[in-house]
Amino acid sequence: MCGIVGYIGSKNAYSILIKGLHRLEYRGYDSAGIALINSQNNLNIYKAKGRVSDLEEFSQGKDISGTIGIAHTRWATHGEPSHINAHPHYSQSENLALIHNGIIENYAILKESLKQKGYIFQSETDTEVLVQLIEYIKTINNTDISTAVQLALKQVIGAYSIAVIEKENPDLIIAARKSSPLVVGIGENEFFLASDASPIIEYTNKVIYLDDEEIAVIHRNEPLRIVNLNNVEKTPQITQLELSLNELEKGGYSHFMLKEIFEQPRTLRDCMSGRVNVDSNNVVLSGIIDNKEKFINARRIIILACGTSWHAGLIGEYLFEEFCRIPVEVEYSSEFRYRHPVINPDDVIIAISQSGETADTLAAIELAKQAGAFVYGICNVVGSSIPRNTDSGSYTHVGPEIGVASTKAFTAQVAVLVMMALNIAREKKTISEEQFLSVLSELSKIPSKIETILQQNNYIEDLSKIFTYAHNFIYLGRGYSYPVAIEGALKLKEISYIHAEGYPAAEMKHGPIALIDNEMPVVVIATNSTTYDKTISNIQEIKARNGRILAIVNKSDYKVKEMADYTIEIPDTEECLSPLLSIVPLQLLSYHIAVKKGRDVDMPRNLAKSVTVE
Ligand code: GLU
Repeated sequence: MCGIVGYIGSKNAYSILIKGLHRLEYRGYDSAGIALINSQNNLNIYKAKGRVSDLEEFSQGKDISGTIGIAHTRWATHGEPSHINAHPHYSQSENLALIHNGIIENYAILKESLKQKGYIFQSETDTEVLVQLIEYIKTINNTDISTAVQLALKQVIGAYSIAVIEKENPDLIIAARKSSPLVVGIGENEFFLASDASPIIEYTNKVIYLDDEEIAVIHRNEPLRIVNLNNVEKTPQITQLELSLNELEKGGYSHFMLKEIFEQPRTLRDCMSGRVNVDSNNVVLSGIIDNKEKFINARRIIILACGTSWHAGLIGEYLFEEFCRIPVEVEYSSEFRYRHPVINPDDVIIAISQSGETADTLAAIELAKQAGAFVYGICNVVGSSIPRNTDSGSYTHVGPEIGVASTKAFTAQVAVLVMMALNIAREKKTISEEQFLSVLSELSKIPSKIETILQQNNYIEDLSKIFTYAHNFIYLGRGYSYPVAIEGALKLKEISYIHAEGYPAAEMKHGPIALIDNEMPVVVIATNSTTYDKTISNIQEIKARNGRILAIVNKSDYKVKEMADYTIEIPDTEECLSPLLSIVPLQLLSYHIAVKKGRDVDMPRNLAKSVTVE
């Protein structure tokens, strides 16, 4: 949440920073701001409520010169989105400017004590406390800025990535992180700073990912220094970026979300490449093979995740229990970490997160590690915190996902879970060879089957027009289709702001059935499965109450087609793989309904892409 960008070098900082903010806008977009030091050593701050484009408008005609600067796009936690609460924040003397991602949990105590020392606060943010604290420490200790940052951060409880610049020191940016991402890019006589690599890639592919409690001392004319809070020098580890610039563009689509839905055949091929081999009838994930014994001997698997990743985790539960015969619990990371969970050393933890930065999942991982459990990560963003803090794992390899509503990351997470289950089951000998081969062969056909679903885009767009009137939706599914139902409902909520509930189809009669009338759209995932006939009974129950049924059915289906008001067909496949297909029309349906309702699909209100606060 929130995007941080910084630049120091010989070029005009403003344009680099604004471009960077646009790339990071998916991380937070309620207000934005920029701080620049010009050649007369003036420290200018410009801020605006709203989008980065509002900041650009606000900055017009102002002094935007300077070759050093920091910029921020905010996702408010403390204080409403407003001009005053937007970052950067000045210190009292206006000598320092600071941007921050995260939450300073003990801000109230720190603020009180600074107030008593005469500090006056302009904003309601926790962030302003930090910049005042740094200034206070710098003044009373008569120390340099990097020492002041070190000392201040020692007093801070919470999560942060920050960047600070100082009017009197126009050759220096100080940056630091804890539980929130920060990357330094190393160019030719210039440095970049950002929350992720996307603002950096067009200038350099050499980056350094900061670790927790590390401070980067970025001097215009000196090599980069990294120290920890105790001033112990660290050797910077340079990583080569593999990201390409066109992965960050819309490529002719009207929204990133639509592009990402359409990318799924390719992203799933990439995800399976080198892992699924139909010729040799094998699935190999190196993370599983290298830790075979851990999985074979696991007494229990606990899957930790939030949001869409949690839905993928539910599908994992069905997969691991069916094929590997290992009991599975799927937990919201935020609940798990605070409820005194029982974790055993022979538990295997699987942490799922697109960004690899989800704050609650990171904290839950720490808990599991302390209890001696083996932790496996499934993440998309290479080099992010979760892959760096887990024992092993698998990347989903779908490239940057920019639309706030997750699509291609979800299907790849499910594909990784399928590959894991097949790999472990074969090692454990809990799957018959016949079933293994049949799932494997079907898995390799999933990308081309998704292509046939995408060909129905125009039809789904037409269908979406019928439903724009609705204020509520119900999504139903059983077995492997239940997580798809709740993920489908989440997609609709996120981007169209229509209230939607996903339910296990059989549970409907225990409550939600009361909501059904002739205006209620009910989306039923009624694909081939062991509970197909039961789902048909549930459809009858809805029909008897005049609900408007939109069913996702297989091509070969004839029973549901007769009962439903509307249907979308998907190709036949193995039941355990059906979520990879059935979610695609639901993604498209949400997308088109949201567009018809005039919503900002890629940046829906109140949301942000990478949830780095608890
Ligand atoms: N807690 C800070 C604020 O509310 C930073 C939020 C962010 O990460 O954007 O301003």
